[in-house]
Amino acid sequence: MTFESLGLAPALLRALSENNYTTPTPIQSEAIPLALAGHDVLGGAQTGTGKTAAFGLPLLNRLSKTTPPNGPRKPRALILTPTRELAMQVTDSLRGYAKHLRLNITAIYGGAGMQPQVDNLRRGVDVLVACPGRLIDHLDRGTARLDNVEVLVLDEADRMLDMGFLPAIKRVLGKVPPQRQTLLFSATFEAQIKALALEFMRDPRQVQI
Ligand code: AMP
Repeated sequence: MTFESLGLAPALLRALSENNYTTPTPIQSEAIPLALAGHDVLGGAQTGTGKTAAFGLPLLNRLSKTTPPNGPRKPRALILTPTRELAMQVTDSLRGYAKHLRLNITAIYGGAGMQPQVDNLRRGVDVLVACPGRLIDHLDRGTARLDNVEVLVLDEADRMLDMGFLPAIKRVLGKVPPQRQTLLFSATFEAQIKALALEFMRDPRQVQI
């Protein structure tokens, strides 16, 4: 299996080879074709397995193929992460994969000033990486709008639930368009995760490594 055979855009393939990614990891080989085909994906994977690229490459590929609407760009992809550290790490990885694409990728998380985040959001964002609590703050203030979201990713969903983010996640899910694609990654699949998938995903394909 090669990244070329997965059908990714040339700009992404170039970035991958510059990052010395030669072979997809197992979660990437399984999840990328399903996500590229437009399916919702329920991925069972721990940190360190390459799950960031497993959801990041298909979403970047999708955004690279469509022109954003005119005017200040509102997020077309939203990635929810449990912690600020993971938000920063995911943002860095996605910026690396998207280095040959013109996409704005930005992160919002608690424990940092609101104003710089508000300024970034106002300048226009294509991919928003967010911790649930701070995202709710921005939604309440009207500084983040989710009505253009085409792809929603829940990264480390089990950790987000352990941290008590279920109500925040449900509020966010109520604000993104229902016809979006949803990708959910979790190391474990206890009942609450299954219930979330059942309620908010459409015919999800399950991949487990
Ligand atoms: P992740 O599980 O997404 O946090 O990725 C773990 C580490 O593996 C990160 O340092 C990635 O840059 C790296 N990585 C992910 N996919 C690949 C790949 N296909 N080839 C080489 N390194 C990779």
